[in-house]
Amino acid sequence: MRRPFVAGNWKMTQTLASAVELALGVAEGARPFVGTVDVAVGPPFVYLAAVKQVLGDSGVTLAAQNAYFEEPGAFTGETALEMLTDVGCRWVILGHSERRHVLGETDELINRKVRAALTKGLGVILCVGELLEEREAGQTEAVLDRQMAGGLADVSDGQIGEVVVAYEPVWAIGTGQTASPEQAESAHAHLRNWLQARYNPQVAEVTRIQYGGSVKPANAVELLAQPNVDGALVGGASLKAETFVPIIEAAAGQ
Ligand code: PEP
Repeated sequence: MRRPFVAGNWKMTQTLASAVELALGVAEGARPFVGTVDVAVGPPFVYLAAVKQVLGDSGVTLAAQNAYFEEPGAFTGETALEMLTDVGCRWVILGHSERRHVLGETDELINRKVRAALTKGLGVILCVGELLEEREAGQTEAVLDRQMAGGLADVSDGQIGEVVVAYEPVWAIGTGQTASPEQAESAHAHLRNWLQARYNPQVAEVTRIQYGGSVKPANAVELLAQPNVDGALVGGASLKAETFVPIIEAAAGQ
């Protein structure tokens, strides 16, 4: 039985005051559900410490939206993994489509970050997903295979337990256009088969695969009811406790 995991990606939004207020609302709203659902929020780097303080012992964990793989040193503008653990991060989101397609991150770079994060004791939320033109060309599964093989290269059987996969079709992120429950289930089942072939049946059975792409309270129940959908990575709807908490509640009900 996989424990559902709902994470909020706040992207490049918020002020210090609004981040604190949002964290307070999530911590309060998630309280009845943290016994059955893992919940995380991912604020921008500059608000991580303040948000961590607000989350306190609520059971809601902290995720960073990115990291650099190198040890602390002369890498102007980058953030080391040690800094993330230092401020209380439990997770780091890697390979998000905006980093792949806006910032030009490759599978190779993402893999270096994944391996470094796992070595430093952070859990990884590895995002994968196809572009609309790739889906229309029937390449969805090939793209997922390539991103999984690239992102998880040299990640051992012993390390994969700290990886959560997020299936995020790029055409559904921030567009209001959600994958149908059938489309999501089909991609998730494919990813689980990939894990079975690359690792083993046990890894495939226990690894959580989140769905991400315009998840909101109105579609969460149906998406989360799919047998291979183990939670959600939520962007827009995670920016208000009133829309994020019902998604957590939907996950608790599965
Ligand atoms: C995301 O940023 O990972 C995401 C899924 O965004 P949205 O929920 O807004 O589509």
